[in-house]
Amino acid sequence: MDIIFSPDQLAHHAAAEFNRGKLGPSFEHPGRAETILAAVAASEGGNVSPPEDFGIGPILAVHDRDYVEFLRGVWDRWQAAGRPGDAMPLAWPQPELMRVRPRSIDGELGLYCADIGTPITAGTWRAAYASAQVALTAARRVHEGARYCFGLCRPPGHHAGKQMYMGYSFLNNAAIAAEWLIASGHRRITVLDVDYHHGNGTQAIFYDRADVQYVSLHADPEDAFPFFLGRADETGTGAGADTNLNLPLPEGTDWQAYSAALDTALDAIRAFGPSVVVLSLGVDTFEEDPISRFRFKAQDFVTLGRQLASLDLPMPVIMEGGYAVAALGANVASVLKGLQQGA
Ligand SMILES: [Zn+2]
Repeated sequence: MDIIFSPDQLAHHAAAEFNRGKLGPSFEHPGRAETILAAVAASEGGNVSPPEDFGIGPILAVHDRDYVEFLRGVWDRWQAAGRPGDAMPLAWPQPELMRVRPRSIDGELGLYCADIGTPITAGTWRAAYASAQVALTAARRVHEGARYCFGLCRPPGHHAGKQMYMGYSFLNNAAIAAEWLIASGHRRITVLDVDYHHGNGTQAIFYDRADVQYVSLHADPEDAFPFFLGRADETGTGAGADTNLNLPLPEGTDWQAYSAALDTALDAIRAFGPSVVVLSLGVDTFEEDPISRFRFKAQDFVTLGRQLASLDLPMPVIMEGGYAVAALGANVASVLKGLQQGA
């Protein structure tokens, strides 16, 4: 399987993040991509290529222009304001406040940022832009006939909305790939999200769309990030009614229970009838993941790949989360191996 990756993706490096009230090293760091790259390059015979540059157009097909301009320029403005650390908001426009753009950079950050775990650094835009190009290149490889292609996206994307960043995500790589596939002539695309966390950004982007189905298995948002989206009764709206399927699962879910839910997901995808499935692949379902609570064992990732292959559909594989760094590369390589072994 071809692997797409750019060294520019290492340029985003948060100094720290708040977790459980404590400032510590960021779980999402460049070493994640390096370990995945080493493992998948070894297991897939070293077919690593850099992304093509699709420009800003396919990004603007998903994200609002003001948000993209903000992301592109915020670091320079933060620097010009003389701030010593990574860029973080100071306040957020909750419903009792007004959603207006203040002059202050601290306030403007709160307009677009939704959590305290996603700082912006000197290389954030460069890395996020490259990550989106990786997703687009993987989508194009599949569009041009490849059965699978691995887009080693980092930073991840599935929490990013049209004008919102959170959960280590700035640009929604999977959504950008799906939208590009629609623009390239595909009539129906599914985004299947198997990351531990609900892909709230992807859901929101396509919630009213009849041509893009979003299907997600994830930790119940009653207990887990992103908390405010991902419940089973969120099924789509307007033209997109019944094109959104959330399968929230309890903490402690093991492969056996997950696999049964995945069968439900795959049946829904077959009923929708897409020509391509964009896979949002997170391996933070692993039992040793430091921020997640499912119980996948290492060998379950091969089985996951095989079960996904039973869809018998072309699939750009877009990397999302996974934070147990020692096992991260091997677990991703296992999914790719299972996909190619087939059902
Ligand atoms: Zn995740």
